[in-house]
Amino acid sequence: MVGGGPGGLTFARVLHRHGHPVTVLERDRGPDARPPGGMLDLHEGMGQLALDKAGLLAEFEALSRPEAQAMRILDVDGTVLRDWRPGPDDRANPEIDRGQLRDLLLGPLDVQWGRGVTRVVPGTRDGARVHFEDGRQEAFDLVVGADGAWSRTRPALSPVTPHYTGITTVETSLDDVDTRHPDLARLVGDGSLAVYGVNRKLVAQRNSGGHVKVYAQFRAPLDWHAGLDLADPDAVRSSLLTLFDGWASPVLDLLRRGTAFAHRPLHVLPVAHTWTHVPGVTLLGDAAHLMPPLGAGANLAMLEGAELAESIATVQGDLDETVRAFEEGMWARAGRWAKITTAGLERLVSSDPAEALALFDQVQPS
Ligand SMILES: Cc1cc2nc3c(=O)[nH]c(=O)nc-3n(C[C@H](O)[C@H](O)[C@H](O)COP(=O)(O)OP(=O)(O)OC[C@H]3O[C@@H](n4cnc5c(N)ncnc54)[C@H](O)[C@@H]3O)c2cc1C
Repeated sequence: MVGGGPGGLTFARVLHRHGHPVTVLERDRGPDARPPGGMLDLHEGMGQLALDKAGLLAEFEALSRPEAQAMRILDVDGTVLRDWRPGPDDRANPEIDRGQLRDLLLGPLDVQWGRGVTRVVPGTRDGARVHFEDGRQEAFDLVVGADGAWSRTRPALSPVTPHYTGITTVETSLDDVDTRHPDLARLVGDGSLAVYGVNRKLVAQRNSGGHVKVYAQFRAPLDWHAGLDLADPDAVRSSLLTLFDGWASPVLDLLRRGTAFAHRPLHVLPVAHTWTHVPGVTLLGDAAHLMPPLGAGANLAMLEGAELAESIATVQGDLDETVRAFEEGMWARAGRWAKITTAGLERLVSSDPAEALALFDQVQPS
């Protein structure tokens, strides 16, 4: 397994549960080598099903935050347009911090940290050789690439690389909001706050421990920041405030009070990304089907990891046939989600902000 993200760790954990040996090769030097990122909402029939297959559903339920499913939508002038809260028993899409999910999945797994893979070469008859950043090589029966958007495993199967969507994100965050920014804590509430303008949107999401992530998303050429020093928080903040000029002051405070900013352009793979099957190597998760971040990517990666592991562990047959069948199923399901999320992104960052509201009403009727 190349990659210890949600997909890779779920695959490894389900195999481990069935007593199958698995090696996880992860480039990061350790679990806390970099900030884990924002929350993930795990859907009932997807991420939660995968955790069930790993025997971890009860622990997930104890850690996750169903109240974080709440969604408040404001107009750019600050008027509340929607204020949706989940019912007391609503566990359709509870949120969990990525770090908590990673630790839950890691459990007894013996991950090989600091083992960056540079390429994977399929064997002439079966299996594959993995080449590492330190120049070493190792052979495996099956290499599963769950190494994300810029996968080093993918070139063994497909020449396709992600392309820019035309929409970029600048991320900032606020700590200890309940005591340091009580006004913004109230504005964001228990879950997410979204404000949709013309070709731009601002989303703030409450994570656990009083941490709020703020995402400013807008249509722009990839080099929109030419002449702007992205490492200078004052310069980035002031450029964002110009971009979102005229929006309600409390909303802009989410950007004004951010102290560090990260630029994350949105890239995707083609909607129907498939490849000619190659024995000994496969992909899952973002490596196979990077799509807009609309709540499906981690869910798919985890479900694929769990399903592939389960069929390897339980199907008494040819490993290659098992992988081939897995790929067919993954392509069909991921293709459907890629279409949904691509259309969704177009409506959420649109020249007509009413489209975003209409999409919310379609997905979450009150
Ligand atoms: C802002 C944002 C919000 C999102 N919210 C949600 C959500 O609510 N729900 C949801 O389902 N999805 C969400 N997503 C999408 C989700 O984050 C991804 O789809 C998911 O992380 C994919 O999991 P993965 O395991 O395939 O890959 P990744 O999470 O990218 O993990 C890949 C792993 O491989 C490792 N790796 C990379 N290259 C190498 C290498 N060469 N050698 C060894 N290891 C390597 C990386 O260090 C990493 O640990 C969101 C995405 C974004 C950007």
